[in-house]
Amino acid sequence: MVRTRFAPSPTGFLHIGGARTALFSWAYARRHAGSFILRIEDTDLERSTPEAVQAILDGMEWLGLGYDEGPFYQMRRMERYKAVIQGMLAAGTAYYCYCSKEEVEAMRERQMAAGQKPRYDGTWRPEPDKSLPAVPEGVSPVIRFRNPKDGVVAWDDQVKGRIAIANEELDDLIIARADGTPTYNFCVVVDDWDMKITHVIRGDDHVNNTPRQINILKALGAEVPKYAHLSMILGDDGQKLSKRHGAVSVMQYDEDGYLPEAVLNYLARLGWSHGDAEIFDMEQFCSWFDLDHITPSAAQFNTEKLNWLNAHYLKLADNARLASEVSKRLGLRSIGTNGGPDLEGVVGLYKERASTLNELTDAVEYFYQQIHATPELLEKHLSADVIPALQGLAEKLAGLPWTQEALHDAIQEAVTANGLKFPKIAMPLRVMVAGIAQTPSVDAVLALLGRDETLRRIKGYLS
Ligand code: GLU
Repeated sequence: MVRTRFAPSPTGFLHIGGARTALFSWAYARRHAGSFILRIEDTDLERSTPEAVQAILDGMEWLGLGYDEGPFYQMRRMERYKAVIQGMLAAGTAYYCYCSKEEVEAMRERQMAAGQKPRYDGTWRPEPDKSLPAVPEGVSPVIRFRNPKDGVVAWDDQVKGRIAIANEELDDLIIARADGTPTYNFCVVVDDWDMKITHVIRGDDHVNNTPRQINILKALGAEVPKYAHLSMILGDDGQKLSKRHGAVSVMQYDEDGYLPEAVLNYLARLGWSHGDAEIFDMEQFCSWFDLDHITPSAAQFNTEKLNWLNAHYLKLADNARLASEVSKRLGLRSIGTNGGPDLEGVVGLYKERASTLNELTDAVEYFYQQIHATPELLEKHLSADVIPALQGLAEKLAGLPWTQEALHDAIQEAVTANGLKFPKIAMPLRVMVAGIAQTPSVDAVLALLGRDETLRRIKGYLS
């Protein structure tokens, strides 16, 4: 059975790259009716925070990436790692090394001065017929993995193709520090082993760890999973994605007014393709997703495309959901919607015109808090020659049944009766009620705004 995992280090928010890794791991498990596991790699005590754990959980929940097992926390598995290390010491696949940090540093300097690649020289590595130095007093040893000396370690990366590294390139990795705590690569190995991970899908910043991890897995007699290393995501400008590019945290996309289904659809296409399919939901995605169609080259973020997808999903979203999102956003601006025009109707009128929830909120704000037109707009649209016609219309509106149709007819009548062109009446109406000259059909706007508020705003300009 396929078992995948997402293994974030909780040192910050869930960023876009992490979210894509999670999405691909989740989708792969879904595709193969397997399990998706969430593992929090929190052993870096200085950089891990509970807030970051929460941010990761929140981000995954917002995206709807549910996990079948977990979250598991590495800090709660310390005893297990230590037990595995004891087993390796007993089996001779790991050994104590009493070199002090200073000695290792001196070793590096010597090697570099001699033009060699710095590496641990194996002073404490037991070999047949080799006698080890005397154990120094008062030194707490580190524990090193006894990496094979010969041969190559190779794997068929599901994204990058075959990768082979000569073992002589790898020195004996420290798997436990002098204080006994296991190191990062080692914990990952034990977890992937214990959690029976079949496919490790992760960022290619981990490619250099993979040969070391494979060697340790083999030393443990564990089955080696398949690896798929995803190339990185670049910003719009081709540079490494960073805060400079705007939102990098998934929750920032929520704040900025993106719908989770748009972000998911966008991330799915970031480095993976299925023919020319651009718009698809997650069910569709999970039925298509495979590792073969992940591009090995870096993927470039494209905000315009994300906006385009978001606009698409806004149109599809039901009005009640949009209303609740917009109401929340208006609330943040201290604008209430209770007792005001029907918000579901209002967002329904505008959702085709916005590409984010924040744009939608901006667009409908005037329904709940009057926006006054600038003098320039008034001068342009509310000219003296149309004022009598508008006054006549206002009187008519006072007694009209308040439906879009009746409003439409009343406006049309005012246009005809005064021998004007339609915009001569429609534009000043817009400017007076909305404070701007671009709105959807003016009768629809007035119908939603309601009689009292419409007349109050119009009279404010005409009297
Ligand atoms: N904890 C690692 C990270 O956040 C991922 C490790 C892995 O997937 O093997 O980059």
